[in-house]
Parts: sequence; C-alpha cells; structure tokens
Amino acid sequence: MDCLFCRIIRGEIPSKKVHEDAETFAFEDINPQAPTHVLIIPKKHMVGLREATAQDADIIGKCHLVAAEIARKRDIENGYRTVLNVGPGAGQSVFHLHLHLLGGRSLAWPPG
Ligand code: 5GP
Ligand code: ZN
Repeated sequence: MDCLFCRIIRGEIPSKKVHEDAETFAFEDINPQAPTHVLIIPKKHMVGLREATAQDADIIGKCHLVAAEIARKRDIENGYRTVLNVGPGAGQSVFHLHLHLLGGRSLAWPPG
C-alpha cells in the first residue's frame, strides 16, 4: 500500500524503531515535540479513529498498552500523554492511524 506509515513498517523508509510485535509497530517521531515522542501504529492499515469500527477495538487498545509499556521502560510514568489526532482540523496529517506518546517534560492542559 502506498502509505507513508505502511512503507515505514515494511522498512522501505527508514525509521528509529522502538517496538515491534505481530500487530503493532512503534518508532520515533521525526519531529519530536517532547523528549519522548513515539508513534505507535497498527501494522494493518487503518485510516484513523473516525473510520474505525468495532472490529478495530482490540488493536486500538493494544496500541495504548504498547504506549504504556514504552513509558514504563523510559521511566516517564510521572506524566505522559497519548494522543490520537482525528481529522485535519485536529492536525491529522498522516492517514494511517497512529497514537502519539509524549513525555519527558511537563505537559500543559488543555492542549492547543
Ligand atoms: P499527525 O499530525 O498526523 O497526528 O502526526 C503525524 C506525525 O508523523 C507527525 O508528528 C510527524 O512529525 C510524523 N511524521 C511524518 N512523517 C514522518 C516520517 O517520515 N518519519 C517519522 N518517523 N515520522 C514522521
Ligand atoms: Zn498505511
């Protein structure tokens, strides 16, 4: 599939891999917004949360658990954030569902 993140999963575009299992792939964001900024994605192509169905519940949940595991390993559990930007109005720029994991600094609320 001609999708940026599908190509990253296949290794056609290099990335700094953080985690991989049968269903998920995680890598460093190319333009980090915090000391930890990792993207966790399903290996199966999905456009985004807006398009997700009940069949996608397990994989979306799994992405969050992978984020929690990375946060534990990086010792940022004092405060981190998982973010799914949904749609162009929220800043979604890549249309392969991806969960941002941000941490390693204090995070303001509400986000911009
Ligand atoms: P969005 O804005 O869609 O929620 O997030 C897309 C994210 O993908 C952005 O944070 C952006 O920096 C990251 N990104 C875009 N292209 C690449 C790339 O080629 N490699 C990596 N590692 N990250 C990318
Ligand atoms: Zn894709």
